[in-house]
Amino acid sequence: MKIWIDGKIKEESEAVISVFDHGLLYGDGIFEGIRIYGGNVFKLDEHLDRLYEGARAISLTVPYSQEELAFFTRETVAADGCDEGYIRLVVTRGCGSLGVSPVRCPKASVFIIVGGIQLYPEEFYRKGISLITASIRRSTVTNVDERIKSLNYLPNVMASLEAHNAGCQEALILNQDGFVAECSADNIFRVRGGRLDTPLISSGALDGITRRTVLDLAAELGIPAEERMLTCYDFYTADECFLTGSGAEVVPVSRIDGRSIGKGEPGPVTLRLAEAYGKLVRSQKR
Ligand code: PMP
Repeated sequence: MKIWIDGKIKEESEAVISVFDHGLLYGDGIFEGIRIYGGNVFKLDEHLDRLYEGARAISLTVPYSQEELAFFTRETVAADGCDEGYIRLVVTRGCGSLGVSPVRCPKASVFIIVGGIQLYPEEFYRKGISLITASIRRSTVTNVDERIKSLNYLPNVMASLEAHNAGCQEALILNQDGFVAECSADNIFRVRGGRLDTPLISSGALDGITRRTVLDLAAELGIPAEERMLTCYDFYTADECFLTGSGAEVVPVSRIDGRSIGKGEPGPVTLRLAEAYGKLVRSQKR
């Protein structure tokens, strides 16, 4: 593991941030989770575009240009030397006083962690995972826009805990109007009659980079796909369901709220898309 912090690449034990950092005190910051395949940083520009857009949206000045941050990211990956791995890129408001106001934080903190990733065990990709609907709701009106991948993950953490306590792997999160938004750390898709559907970003979903990639792959494979408002009913009655995320990639869902989805095993469209995604990421060469 290697960590880029304040312009230096450090070992885990040396990489520390201040207790006065507003990322820690208030969750004031943004982050990206990015994959390394074949020693290459996968979709780095897309991740950085989302990061810089999020920074603009919360009025956070990243003290480096996008090109500089791309360079530092690749430099850290090279220093680590890993072929397959995961990057956590974090920009916080930086150190300030104990007050909530960000105006006393003169400089954002940036750190880049390059390490491994704990994927779901192989069995879940073969058999599918189970979801429960979380009691916690996603607010699309009063909250910070969900397109901002902010450090405020407490609702997601609570949803994830609820899933764990129910013996499930992920939690389905609904918005205030009862429409499905996404899961605690992944976007969601369903297949019905050979067609693919995924919730709208405006339903409160993160504009996931894997989600976009899967929509592109569906277009290439001639699978009709639509972004629309979807309810639990649409998932309970689906032929297939799967989640997408940089960490999870494409993971089949076999049960939601105790109901079997389709035949209760990964379906043909899910498997085609998972295979196409696998091929794409494995084609990344050093
Ligand atoms: N939704 C949430 C809440 C996430 O945290 C993530 C990333 N883990 C995703 C969706 C998937 O986004 P991406 O495909 O860009 O990794």
